[in-house]
Amino acid sequence: MSTEHTEVAVVGAGLSGCLLAAFLARRGYPVALYERRPDPRTGPVDRGRSINLALSERGLDALRRIGLDARVMADALPMRGRMIHPVDGEPQFQAYSAAGDRAINSISRGALNNALLTEAAALPGVRVAFDHRLVDLDPATGEMTFETPQGKVTAAASVVLGADGAGSAVRGQLLGHGLLRESLDFLDYGYKELTIPPLGGTFALDPEALHIWPRGTSMMIALPNPDRSFTCTLFWPTHGTASFASLGSPAAIEQHFAQHYPDLLPLAPNLVDDYLHNPVGVLGTVRCAPWQVNGRVGLLGDAAHAIVPFYGQGANCAFEDVVELDRCLDECADDWSAALPLFHHRRQANAEAIARMALANFVEMRDRVASPLFQLGRRVEQTLERALPGRYVSRYELVSFSTTPYAQVRRRVRRQHQLLGAVAGGAAALLAGVVGAAFRRGRRG
Ligand code: FAD
Repeated sequence: MSTEHTEVAVVGAGLSGCLLAAFLARRGYPVALYERRPDPRTGPVDRGRSINLALSERGLDALRRIGLDARVMADALPMRGRMIHPVDGEPQFQAYSAAGDRAINSISRGALNNALLTEAAALPGVRVAFDHRLVDLDPATGEMTFETPQGKVTAAASVVLGADGAGSAVRGQLLGHGLLRESLDFLDYGYKELTIPPLGGTFALDPEALHIWPRGTSMMIALPNPDRSFTCTLFWPTHGTASFASLGSPAAIEQHFAQHYPDLLPLAPNLVDDYLHNPVGVLGTVRCAPWQVNGRVGLLGDAAHAIVPFYGQGANCAFEDVVELDRCLDECADDWSAALPLFHHRRQANAEAIARMALANFVEMRDRVASPLFQLGRRVEQTLERALPGRYVSRYELVSFSTTPYAQVRRRVRRQHQLLGAVAGGAAALLAGVVGAAFRRGRRG
């Protein structure tokens, strides 16, 4: 199929859709970018999505390729580690990297989306249609139907790419035509956003850290914003005796936070109001296959593989998808019928790896980070990283500060832990031998 000049439709002008449109336009494709919302640069801000997010090396690598990294990073706030807030006592800082110099970046989701949209829309060949919600798709012909404020309209494209998020309508259409299998695993946890406003004109907490209040069955995190506020995200079961459903009255909310998050209460004067009015978002993992049909319809980003947010990698992974799809188009000389299957083949194991690591990190963040044993383990790990630079590298470092494919990260970390186990076992055996010999000598003497 010669597609050099045929139009590609990208459904969803979110983070991955805008980046994808920019990459495709740079390859010379005419691109129609369809978005169900009005133009976010002029319309009201979408509530209920995370306000800020952590951008790390994978996302930055993608932005660098289109020269957008400096513009996005101009408003980023680097976070060099975790600040753990116990119920009693002082907060403790844990650096993300052994040398303490590496940082993940808190950025505004809206500002990032707008920067990508502006970049894509300015490129020759890109046409953006807002207020276009995809409601129907014929995977055989590429004919799409959209609901718009003026009624239903149809359009067609040689290639249709679904970048329309976790609840993807494109995925739904492929499912409806029996062309795809999917599984949706929802957590019984939801999330709610709360705000810590600036205090006396400055940040109320250290802005160079991602703040965590690990509480076992619940957890709260806070990321800094350029206006010197923090956005907190409370993760808690949606139902049960200790859950979002269990707090109804302002007094109960205040009492709960006073008991479990005592240092937050004086910093968040609108806490009760935020709590009562902000929605509870759902969290889950989306898996599906195949991610493409006949080289004509494809999925990427959350539409193909939404994950839980506990590694701060969903958007980073979605950006990496775009880079990989671009690479596949290079290798397949823009033959979509070869490039889309290759893309699925290369990315699926990586998406599955980060999905699993993100779930595992939830347990680490809500529970283990507070334990002295975990903190000792991190110190041992960072000592090894300094002693064996490039040879022993922690999982966090590989995920957040490298572009090593996620599946390779999992394999490498497993090998490192086996080695560590063997070394620890050997050391224990050696120690037992030395102690035993000394004991025997003692008995003899
Ligand atoms: P989206 O950003 O969801 O974009 C989809 C777009 O498609 C939207 O604009 C939507 O309006 C549009 N759309 C939907 N349906 C239709 C339709 N039928 N027709 C037309 N348009 C449609 N990731 C990180 O990397 N770091 C983080 O720190 C981080 N924190 C997070 C915190 C929370 C609480 C959550 C929930 C997620 C977090 N993520 C984070 C994940 C990240 O938000 C997603 O992975 C990322 O937004 C995926 O981008 P996307 O372009 O695939 O989808």
